[in-house]
Amino acid sequence: MTERFAAALAWADELHRSQFRKGGKTPYVSHLLRVAGLALEFGADEETAIAALLHDAVEDQGGLETADEIERRFGKRVRKLVCDCSDSMTGRACPKKPWRERKEKYLKHLNVASARARLISLCDKIDNLTSIVRDVEQYGLAVFDRFHGGLDGTVWYYEEVVRILTGHKMSGVAELERLLSRLKELIRSWQAREEDQNESPQPKGQPGYALLGLGSNRGDRRKYLAAARVLLEKTPGIVIRQFSSLYETLPQGGPAQQRNYYNATALVETTLTPRELLAATQNVEAQLHRKRTVHWGPRTIDVDILLYNDLEVNEPDLIVPHPRWSEREFVLVPAVETLWRELVQSQ
Ligand code: ADP
Ligand code: MG
Repeated sequence: MTERFAAALAWADELHRSQFRKGGKTPYVSHLLRVAGLALEFGADEETAIAALLHDAVEDQGGLETADEIERRFGKRVRKLVCDCSDSMTGRACPKKPWRERKEKYLKHLNVASARARLISLCDKIDNLTSIVRDVEQYGLAVFDRFHGGLDGTVWYYEEVVRILTGHKMSGVAELERLLSRLKELIRSWQAREEDQNESPQPKGQPGYALLGLGSNRGDRRKYLAAARVLLEKTPGIVIRQFSSLYETLPQGGPAQQRNYYNATALVETTLTPRELLAATQNVEAQLHRKRTVHWGPRTIDVDILLYNDLEVNEPDLIVPHPRWSEREFVLVPAVETLWRELVQSQ
């Protein structure tokens, strides 16, 4: 590799410095490094590797102006490679076209693009699908909420990419195919879990209101809260009436130097008894891999029953109202938000 590669790396890092990977805190340059690394492993030349580092620069960082700058720094061929890998050239000022339209155009183009451009696309898709698979393993189907195409659109898109690239007999496609099979397998297993939940007999108790407190200070906290919300929504006998915004709060108690929490509350209508509701919330915790190790220690997700109608329960494993609910700002603030919204909407 020559100093041109080093220059491209430094510039890519600078261009994407304020950007993070979807829904997380990983600096975006990690994706660019992985794509360039994969491309080199699959036999890319230096120019292709440079284009791999810059493959999102036009789409995400400035549109045609950036394309001109790429040409000035690295020549016409790199510009062409990058533009071939972009599904939108509008830059920040203009809104992008609708998702499906953009993807259909991209797929059409992928089919006729140069072999070098296709190699970059392949590596891009391998890295993206790797992180989707990892997220779905951990957080379930809620992950698809953050994709424009949702679950069906995402699967369709990757199936099309595999189909097109297979037609061009590229050696790395097997890796993408393997990831896609794994994704579909995970989707099936999460869907089966949800169906199991739905098939359990619908409880027919008197409907009551419960206030649930949710918190996460481990892993991708937003995703855990979103996943918990989806799982609660899918639990028979629970209807979420209101779900608060997420609040970042300092940890209270427990070991020192824990990360901050993200907290939310959910106001739910439920036909479950308090004990059944506890089982349901613990099921959500279990599905999201919560491990009970350190008391008040870091957790991927905590779901507590704060209030249930005006009921008082005092049993060893279930105390309602939750003993400390009224002392905790991280409960009270989101609780007010849900209750206020409910009040306003029921007027
Ligand atoms: P905490 O929520 O206090 O940080 P845990 O989530 O580990 O800690 O809860 C420990 C135990 O608290 C659970 O095993 C559960 O049986 C019990 N518990 C008692 N009352 C409640 C309640 N209202 N909501 C949720 N769990 C409760
Ligand atoms: Mg708890």
